This record gives sequence, C-alpha cells and structure tokens, in this order.
Amino acid sequence: MEFIESVFREIIGFLGITNIMEIVKEGNYGILKTYDGIVALILPIIPLLMLLEFILGLVYKKPHTKVYKVNFLIYLFNRFLGRFIAIAMVAFCIGLFQDHAIIKTNRTWYWFIYGYIVWEFGHFLYHYWGHKVRLFWCLHSTHHVPENMNLSVVYAHFFLEAPYADAIRTTVCILLGVRPEFLVIIMFIDGTYGAFIHVGENLIKDARFGFLNKIMLTPSHHRVHHARNPLYMDTNFCNLLNIWDRVFGTYQEEDREIEVEYGITREVNSGNFIDVYFGEFIALFKDMYNAPGLKNKLLYAIMPPGWDHNGNHKTAKVVRENYFSAMEKPDVGLKKAEVLD
Ligand SMILES: [Zn+2]
Ligand SMILES: [Zn+2]
Repeated sequence: MEFIESVFREIIGFLGITNIMEIVKEGNYGILKTYDGIVALILPIIPLLMLLEFILGLVYKKPHTKVYKVNFLIYLFNRFLGRFIAIAMVAFCIGLFQDHAIIKTNRTWYWFIYGYIVWEFGHFLYHYWGHKVRLFWCLHSTHHVPENMNLSVVYAHFFLEAPYADAIRTTVCILLGVRPEFLVIIMFIDGTYGAFIHVGENLIKDARFGFLNKIMLTPSHHRVHHARNPLYMDTNFCNLLNIWDRVFGTYQEEDREIEVEYGITREVNSGNFIDVYFGEFIALFKDMYNAPGLKNKLLYAIMPPGWDHNGNHKTAKVVRENYFSAMEKPDVGLKKAEVLD
C-alpha cells in the first residue's frame, strides 16, 4: 500500500500538480495572486497537455510514439548533461595520470577489491571537501537542500558537481594504479548503490538492515548524512563501504532517539529553483563582497561553510562541539534548541 502511495506521489510530482493539490486542499486560493501561486498554476500545464495529447493519440490511433521517444531522450540528455561533462572529465584524468601511476596492478580479482577501496577513498575526499571547502559546498549543497528523503533526491545536483567529484575520484584511483576497465565497473556499482541509499521511509522505514549496518554503509547512514541535527552534521561521507569514515572519525550511526531533520542550516526556500540551485553561490558572493581585504575574501571561498572573518564561526565543527559540551553539562551548557539556532 505504501509502495502504491509513493508511486502515486511520484506521478503527481512529475505532473507538477503537488502545489495545486495543496492549495485546493487548504482552500488557500489567495496565494494564486502571488508569484508562487502563479508558478503552481503554470507548472502542470505542459505535462498535463502532453498527457492529454498522448491519450488523444491513442484514441485516434496516432500516438506518434517515435516523437515521444525522441523527446524523452532529449529530456534525459538534458538531465544528464552534467554526467556527460563528468565522463569527459574521467577520460581526461585517465589520459593525464595513467603513465604516472605509483602502483602497478593487473586484472586479478583482489586488485578489483583494492580498486573499490581506493575509489571509496577518492569518494571520501571529494565528499569531505564538498562539505568543508565553501566553494565546493556551493556545488554540493543543492543535494542537501531537500527537507525530505526520497529517491528524487538522487537527481538533486548542481550540474558541475559530478565533474568536480569525478576529477578527484578518478585522479586518486589512476595515480594509485586502479585499472580503467575496473574503474568503469566500480563507477556503475557506486552510482547504482549511491542512488539506492536515498530510498525514503515510505518504501523502507528502518533502513539499518540489521548486521549489515555494521559492515557497510546503509540508507540509514546516508539519512544521517543528510541531517542538519548537530549530532549528525558532517558525518558518513562514504558511499558503499564505510571504512574511511571509521578511519577519519566521521562515522555516525542513526540514533533512534534523535529523529533526522533533513536539510541545511541556512534559511532556504526549498520550492524556489534559484534558491536551491544558486543560493549558496549567492550567499558566498555576498560574504566575499562584504569581507574586508583580499585575504578575508579568499578565505570565505576556501574555509568551511559557517566560517566568519570576525571569528564568530558557525561551522559544523563548532556546532557539534557546542552540542557535545551541552550534553556533558546539561544544566550549565546550552539547551539543544539553543544549539540549533
Ligand atoms: Zn554530502
Ligand atoms: Zn545524498
């Protein structure tokens, strides 16, 4: 039943009628005079017309399936534009670094396992810097804005994030001798599993998967990664194996007492494309513009999000430290609500 409901929600989402349904349900017709209301009205027109057109095509036995097919491919191409740039980036890094590999490997199975562990290391680096270097956070933050977890979050990415990620992951792998033919398979597994870990609670409520939670990265770990709760912030950077989170001390299990609050700490209008896609760039440019001196301006771009040139830092590290010290001294320390502010 839950599955049918979530499929139904997916279709409603594709048709762009989620907002209109909300407005009708709440009887809040006044909003139709606002920008958001007008967008809610316009959004479903094309998908609904396309559907009507297709149904009429079936009725008249002229469905023009070829045209739909081609247009669907164009739609896919546009969606995966970033992916194509990323593939070009992978090819470029292989060509550039293949002759400089410091380890020679062959096609034996254990070099594949080695390759996967090295890939996860590259993934850890790209993802860690994506959270700790503000300019890279601008590329990665689009993925963290959604205030709910479901499989559509898989598609929430700034188009230049994939090339950035693959430049780092591929370079690390090739320099450490991972074979390109293994890399292709590893990337496929990584991409497929990396999508699966975004499965929402409507499909799988408890995603810890018993003992597997101890030996690999489960959707439960990734839910924690997408949380803005102080305990969960900037943890679980791995994708399938959680070796490197354990090595670098960023491993965090889901605590059933602390409900995951998805999203980022910045005030964000998650229904506004510009804010979701470019919001962090705008915030960074504002901070750089207002900062005194060239050094401070540059520091804003390379220091972690929340860094402040006056020393009033609100980085994840500071927020977590405040949280833990409040936990240790509950009466003198800050209350949880205050830490969240
Ligand atoms: Zn992340
Ligand atoms: Zn994610």
